[in-house]
Amino acid sequence: MKTKIVALTVLTALCMSLCSCGKVEKSTQTALLLDTIVSVTCYGEGSDEAANAAIDEIKRIEAIFSPYIETSEIYNINHNAHSAPVKSSAEVMSVLKEALRICALTDGAFDITIKPLVDLWNIKAENPSVPSPDAIAEAKSKVDWTKVELSDGTVRLGAEGMMLDLGGAAKGYAADCAVKVIRDHGIKDAILDLGGNVYAMGSSEKGTPWRIGLQDPGGQRGEYFKAEELSDLSCVTSGSYERYFESGGRIYHHIINPKTGYCADEGLISVSVIGKSSFEADMLSTAIFVMGAEKFEKIKDNFDIVKYITVDKTNNWKEY
Ligand code: AMP
Ligand code: MG
Repeated sequence: MKTKIVALTVLTALCMSLCSCGKVEKSTQTALLLDTIVSVTCYGEGSDEAANAAIDEIKRIEAIFSPYIETSEIYNINHNAHSAPVKSSAEVMSVLKEALRICALTDGAFDITIKPLVDLWNIKAENPSVPSPDAIAEAKSKVDWTKVELSDGTVRLGAEGMMLDLGGAAKGYAADCAVKVIRDHGIKDAILDLGGNVYAMGSSEKGTPWRIGLQDPGGQRGEYFKAEELSDLSCVTSGSYERYFESGGRIYHHIINPKTGYCADEGLISVSVIGKSSFEADMLSTAIFVMGAEKFEKIKDNFDIVKYITVDKTNNWKEY
């Protein structure tokens, strides 16, 4: 009995010392993946293994979904799925199925076959320029999500030169997968940032929900116009200030309206979507940027989002 009391006292003292100093095991891992800086911070016992496993998971997803990695499934589809259907993994099939659902519901404002236009505009080039109207019309003719055929574990692209680009979805999908891996490691509290695709798991070090700042499109990096309190939610932002070039006094950015072939121009410069699925929030932030809030309001009930916030060209924000 006496030893039990001593043991309990020691245990209580140990707990109190851990609680009073407030230190919880923590691990941050960063990597350059999916064309952005990825950072994962996990809290609690086993945080190091969990954060490393999350980074490995994002690497795994990049290796499957990047159209630029020659061994990826998407690369294989883009180069071989025109003449005959290409056998695809169950994971690629389910991601494409969900992405096509968003293409359909947004009436093609989000379009996973956008790659010919992305390649033509080549925003990431050192000296990008505005393509000719003919070149835009030609690339646009290869963009049409309705021609992606999924059947029996195969993918077929129904037009010559058609190619998939999941740049508006992969970071969100990867965030959701990494969150699952972290949970499987028994970790409840973590914060993941995949180049602006944030997932806030559980609570912050203070025991309160995470406070996530929304980047001020007109400000310096890290300057926020609004903060959101999140717990087990993702916040994804699409902004025209992220990747752009100027020509003839106009701004040309990386979010393209598939119907015009030019940059989306619905008067918005930033759209943030908050929801449980980072995958869905990622696709919708791009879609809302293209279609505008007014049109999106009419189809909003099809989605599982908590809210979204737009910033217009005059730097005014609005929450929906
Ligand atoms: P995000 O930054 O998430 O809005 O995604 C932008 C990226 O998605 C671009 O860099 C393109 O790779 C791709 N993208 C651009 N326009 C569209 C569009 N209308 N539908 C789907 N993906 C797009
Ligand atoms: Mg997106």
